[in-house]
Amino acid sequence: MPYPFRMSARQSLAVENPEIPEVLDMDGGEAIGAAEAIGDDYAKAIQLRMELRASIAREKPKFLCPICQIPVYLVSRKEGRRFFFRHLIEDGRCSAHTRGELGEKEIDARRYNGAKESRDHLRMKEIVAESIACDPRFSLPKTEETWKGALGEWRRPDVQAKFGELRMAFEIQLSTTFIRVIAERREFYLREGGLLVWLFKRFDESGNRLTQDDVFYNNNRNVFLASEETLAASKAAGKLCLECRWTEPVADGATVVLHWQRKIVSIDELTVDAERQRIFFYDFDGAVARLSADSKSAREETLRRRFEAFWLDRAERDRSDERDGHDDLGPWNGLRKAFDEVGLKLTTYPGGEGSETLLNALYSAKHGKIIGWRYKKFIEIAHRIAGGHKPYLWAFRLALAAYDRRALILSEDQSGLWRKKVVRYKDLMDKGTLEYLPDRRFDGLVAFLFPEIADGLGMYPIP
Ligand SMILES: [Zn+2]
Repeated sequence: MPYPFRMSARQSLAVENPEIPEVLDMDGGEAIGAAEAIGDDYAKAIQLRMELRASIAREKPKFLCPICQIPVYLVSRKEGRRFFFRHLIEDGRCSAHTRGELGEKEIDARRYNGAKESRDHLRMKEIVAESIACDPRFSLPKTEETWKGALGEWRRPDVQAKFGELRMAFEIQLSTTFIRVIAERREFYLREGGLLVWLFKRFDESGNRLTQDDVFYNNNRNVFLASEETLAASKAAGKLCLECRWTEPVADGATVVLHWQRKIVSIDELTVDAERQRIFFYDFDGAVARLSADSKSAREETLRRRFEAFWLDRAERDRSDERDGHDDLGPWNGLRKAFDEVGLKLTTYPGGEGSETLLNALYSAKHGKIIGWRYKKFIEIAHRIAGGHKPYLWAFRLALAAYDRRALILSEDQSGLWRKKVVRYKDLMDKGTLEYLPDRRFDGLVAFLFPEIADGLGMYPIP
């Protein structure tokens, strides 16, 4: 089932006309518009929510209200999942009013659901402790015991145990936990060199529960559940087993679709990233990076082919006297624009600045036929480059080798003249003679169009 939030919607997720329209970014010292700071990516907004709360917990707030200099944090409005900034304290000194809704205590009082919740919580704790006890690699689990911090603070996680050298705290998540609480606990366990794992009883894939999102999007899009089923699995395996829910990005044409997955996994299938307080089965960030690298190389390949088709077609029309230089400018300008986007500057007109000969030579070598000249034999190109375009001979030779044209040239070298020439210039090249010093103005373009020879372009011997 695809996730309802697209990976990049175009509209900002900020509410309209927020009370705090700008925030002061303490990292850069600049004011940023709320819409820009919040952005259009739901996952990033949720990560910012955590970052702001963590920065406040560290007493180094990241964003301030520019009017009153009070730290702000990011609130998610339930309707439509829009975000706005709220003052940490509101005592009348600022003209912006961002509070006035229920405070944490009132919300706690409202949602408190008495006996049922505490029974569920109790059973969950038992499940987690029993599951850990199945796994001899863990120390004996402790329930509701104080974890004393180095700085005199303390926490009392639902369950704690050591897995090898790693001290782990498990917190059961049944209803809503404030982002402040989540951030403060993360900061505590981070300082302690431990790892906090949130465990859910249920998981709602529709993204209707903010606390769930606060954990999920800050944990590489993995969440863990504990249940009677995972306890049975732990007993059977003799290892701590949990249910993991995660999303996988799958390329679907030009867009990426997220697929939900679910699996019961054991602790040793998980990756621990204590520095970012993350524990995950599936590396979502890594998968996204791979997908975007794939799509980048696919776009580059398309562009490479487009240039080549243009060049070969142009040479063909030239050969049959059909070419009028003006015909080329439209498509060429299109290519220039597309190459700009990959950071390469094309010449003002095709083949300008002396690139004509070089590209003709390299495409000829690539295709093993004459492109851009009216010669009869391929070897004539080799003689031409070696005689009249010495600064291109290095790249041309690389291409002859890469595209395996040795046999073709030798078959056309009945007189043996070419072989003699090779012996001569090869010796000079080995010495790094200036005469054959490569013209490197087009290296970027050549490396892009002919990736097979990219590595060799800068290898001309230096005397
Ligand atoms: Zn203010």
